[in-house]
Parts: sequence; C-alpha cells; structure tokens
Amino acid sequence: MNYPQLDIYLNRIKENASKLRQELDGKNIKLTAVVKGFAGNLNVFKAYQEAAIKSIADSRIENIKKFREAGYQDEILMLRIPMPSEIKEIVPYIDASLVTEAKTAELISKAAEAAAKIIDLIIMVDIGDRREGILAQNLAELAEKIEALPGVKLKGIGTNLGCFAGIIPDQKNTFHLINLKRELENKLGRELEILSAGNTATIRLLKEQELAREVSNLRVGEAILLGTDIINQSLINGYHHYNFRLQAEIVELKEKPSNPEGEMAFGGQGRGQIIEDKGLRRRAILAVGKQDIDYHGLYPELEGVDVLGASSDHLITDVTDAAQDLGVGDILTFKINYSAMLRAMTSQYVSKNYIE
Ligand SMILES: *Cc1c(COP(=O)(O)O)cnc(C)c1O
Repeated sequence: MNYPQLDIYLNRIKENASKLRQELDGKNIKLTAVVKGFAGNLNVFKAYQEAAIKSIADSRIENIKKFREAGYQDEILMLRIPMPSEIKEIVPYIDASLVTEAKTAELISKAAEAAAKIIDLIIMVDIGDRREGILAQNLAELAEKIEALPGVKLKGIGTNLGCFAGIIPDQKNTFHLINLKRELENKLGRELEILSAGNTATIRLLKEQELAREVSNLRVGEAILLGTDIINQSLINGYHHYNFRLQAEIVELKEKPSNPEGEMAFGGQGRGQIIEDKGLRRRAILAVGKQDIDYHGLYPELEGVDVLGASSDHLITDVTDAAQDLGVGDILTFKINYSAMLRAMTSQYVSKNYIE
C-alpha cells in the first residue's frame, strides 16, 4: 500500500456514464462527457469507452493526445476556449471547439485548412455567470464572421453556468439561450444544429419537455464521476455517488490546545481562519496536503472526524469525537468532491487504486 491512496470505482463510473447517455438519448440529446476531472487517466477513460460514450470534452492538449494515442476515434470537443498559442498543435486532434473570440476562430480556421479538415465551432454566450462567453448583443457579429471563414463550421451556441459566479441554470436563463439561438438562426437564414447546455446542474431542468426539446447537446462531468450536483447541492437520484475515495495515514496524534499560541500573522486572523477555543482536543495529522487534495472537499467517513485545514503536506483533523479509537499509522478515509478529485487525480503523489 502506498498512501495517500485514491480508490477509484471504475464500474460505478461506467454505469453512471452509460445510464446518463441512455437517458439523454431518449430525449434526443447528445451527451458530451466532460473528462477534464481525471487528468487524462487512461484507466478511467476506459470506463467511458466501455459505456459507449462517443463524444468527450477536455481542455488539456496532453490529455487529448493521450486519448487519441490510446485509439479513441470519436468526437473530441475542446472544452476550454483554446489558447491562440496551442491552436496549431491541437487542431489535428479535435473535431470541435468552443469559441468566444474572432481572433481564435480565425486561427482555428487557418489551422484547419492547413490540416485539411473542418472544425465545428460552438459560440459560448455569457448569460450571467461571467466566465467565458460573448455577450448576447455581440453574438450575431461573431457568428457572421465565423460563417465567412473556411475550414470551420458554425454548429451552434452554448453556455456554461454555475462555475464562477455560481449562477444556477434555470428555466429563465435557459429559455434566454434558446431565444438567442432562434434570433441568430433568423439572422443567418439557416438552422443551427446545436444548442449546447452545460453542465451537471442543468440535468434536472431536462425533466421539462419544453426545455429538453430545444437542447441538443449536454456537456456533463460531475454527474458521471461523482453522481453529485454541487451547484444545486444535491445527489443525483439513481446514480452512484462518490466514486472516488481518499485514504490517508495518521502521522501524529496528540492532545493539544485547540487555541494557537503566539502572535498571529495577518491581523490576528491567522490567514483568515477564526479558530475557536475548544480547550484540549485530540488532533490527528495526516500525510496528505494541499498538493494532493482540496481539503474543503473532504468528507470523513468515520463519524466524529472534523477536517480543520491543510498545509502543503499535512492535513489537520480533530478526532476527539471520533466513533473509533485511533492511533499513529491508522488510515482515515474520505469521500471527496469534484475539486478534491481533480487535485488528487493530478497529484503524482497520490497512488491510484482501481476497483473494477
Ligand atoms: C467543466 C465544464 C463542464 C462540465 O461541468 P460539470 O459540472 O462537471 O458537469 C461543462 N462545460 C464546460 C465549458 C466546462 O468547463
């Protein structure tokens, strides 16, 4: 055993992917599985292939190349609007890209021509979350520019919500997007094939037929990997939940005053923490840190364990109320959220244990 260790339940991920694909198929919505959460890991990727996923999205060229080299031939969508500096290199590996900038579209057009292929483009529209996306009033201008470019095909428009400002996808903003697509179709004088909604938080909206009829593509990551919907703070019914589990080892366990001692940096806030004086507490230090996980996203499986914080290499927990006696060398296990999963998959120091 090598700790910290991440247990990865491949079968559950596969079943989630397969179930979601079939559910969306039934609504005539193409599932694009967003795979950016597992750092191009080919063992996890295999679960998607076994689930017959035919469209994936990632944002890292390294991962995209790896999937192609592993023999994946179906659709790859460049999920993050590409860096101008990577376009030449990435175009040979992808089928489609999200775009928001005319300059980027022009570079993709050039690279596509050079590679003798057509790249599908989806314009991202910002309808409130203020991450990537063009504002509605500028949409037509960009669309018309793209229409005139060789080597690219304007397939439709899309949006992403929830990820920066935390704006929740709802009926109102989704209908807004649908209306923008209609207006754009009128201006261009042709239909657009794709209305690409995203992400996991949009799934629950698709119960409404009126919405589901208009959405033709859904980009989903979290629901497949974790069965959770962090934006709506819920577990997704009928899916396997928390398919990644962290195991970490206790390297120190001592009774200590919970109150720190000495002059505290940063205006007495101790890097923003407010530490409550709870008297003497049993404190377990685990050998895993910020380099490996996002400690905000750790949910201890043993009752009574409290995560207090982390530094680069240490996780600090309060185990005074733990439901079990603990000692140095014992292992604590945690369910983890998306952000902790992302970090654990990226960290070379976290060993990966695949459970079929
Ligand atoms: C990450 C991402 C998604 C997937 O989001 P989940 O919440 O993991 O389903 C969809 N679209 C874009 C543009 C993304 O960056």
